Order: sequence, then structure tokens, then C-alpha cells
Amino acid sequence: MNSERPPWLDAALLDAEAFGLDFPRGTRGAAAREIPRGAAEPAANPVTTPRAAEAALDAIAREVEACRACSLGACRTRSVPGQGSAQARLFFVGEAPGAEEDSQGLPFVGAAGQLLTKMIAAIGLAREQVFIANVLKCRPPENRDPAPAEMAACRAFLMRQIESVDPDVIVTLGAHATRSLLQREGPLARMRGERHRCGRAELVVTYHPAYLLRSPDMKRAAWEDLKRAKSLLDAPSRA
Ligand code: SF4
Repeated sequence: MNSERPPWLDAALLDAEAFGLDFPRGTRGAAAREIPRGAAEPAANPVTTPRAAEAALDAIAREVEACRACSLGACRTRSVPGQGSAQARLFFVGEAPGAEEDSQGLPFVGAAGQLLTKMIAAIGLAREQVFIANVLKCRPPENRDPAPAEMAACRAFLMRQIESVDPDVIVTLGAHATRSLLQREGPLARMRGERHRCGRAELVVTYHPAYLLRSPDMKRAAWEDLKRAKSLLDAPSRA
């Protein structure tokens, strides 16, 4: 065993060996623990106390529910504003709700969501400890790609959610989320290999879980991305 590896990684890899999972499973004990912010991080930033962050997220969810700024507002079953901890240090951004999400009003609850939950557990966290949102808050018909005008109309909601939660690390899942947050075009494979920031947060690019379900050979690459996100969370402070 490599003694330089962080304990969470050894535990996750051991779990993978023991259970033969497609995605390494995180330590069961670590899943519920609180991750302390870095020592240099103020207890409350100027924008968000925990209560203010929760209030801001609730207000955004109500605005999303009332929104008809693009045509998707008229054909959705339920809006899907996002879900998670207002104090999350890790923020996942996906593309758009699918059928199951549209039905339940919650993000990543279908097959791709189950894989995302495994991915989160693989780095020793529970879903409740992170925040999960999409670029689009309403389902595109037939799960088609988001249109540029729809992404532009919806982007302010996501940016306000990020500002409210004020995470240390953002993980974008797939090309649409990455391009929306970085506001630039480019192949996902190239952007994945670069270092990014989004406001105060580090941004890590990885593959969408739906793509990983279709291309399981890429799970190893996604696992490397998640390890990088975890190592950024473990860093003592952020710039
Ligand atoms: S997708 Fe976004 S901009 Fe379009 S109606 Fe839904 S909440 Fe509004």
C-alpha cells in the first residue's frame, strides 16, 4: 500500500477491490463526516451566511418555478432548480433534467443520478453534503441538447446558486455545463486537461454520468477527475 496516498483514496480503492464495483465506493464512515473548510477560510464570507444562503436558494427555486423566460417553461412537468447543502464545498453542475427529474422535480435521480451518487460516495461524501444543479432548470423535449438561447436565458439562476453556496470546488459534468460556466467553446477532452477557476472556486471538468453509462471505459478518467476535485477540497485554503 502506498503510504503517501490519502486514507480516503486507499479506502475507496480497497472497497473497489473488495466489492468489484464499476465505480469505487467511498468509506462508509467518511460519508457522513463534515469536511472542515481550510484554516484561512473565514467562518462566513461576505455574501453568504448559512441562513442567508438557504434563503437565497429558496428564493431562486421560487423564481425558477415561476419562470417562463424560454419555451421549456411551458412543456415541463416540474421545474428542477437543484438540491443539496447551502454550505456545500463541492458543487456539481449537469446539463438539464431528464424524464425522471422532470417527474420528481429533483436533479440526477435517474440512472445517471445513481451513478453520480456513487461517484460522490467514491470520494467519501454523501449527496446531502454537496450541491447538485443543472444548467437548464426545465427538461428539453426528448432530452435534446440545450439550445444556446435556453442556456443564456437560464444561466443567471445557476450563477446565483453558485454565488449563494460559495463552493470551494465546482465539478462540471459534460460539455454543456463546462461551456456554460467557462463561457467558451472547445472540445471537452481539451478543457478537461486544463486548470480552471469560476469566481472564487476551482473548476474541475469531467464527463457526464450519462456518457459514462454509455462509455464505461471512461470511468477511470472520471475517477482521476474526482480525485483531483477531492485533493482541491483537501487543500488548506483557496485563493
Ligand atoms: S429552462 Fe430556465 S429560463 Fe427556461 S423556463 Fe425553465 S427556468 Fe426559465
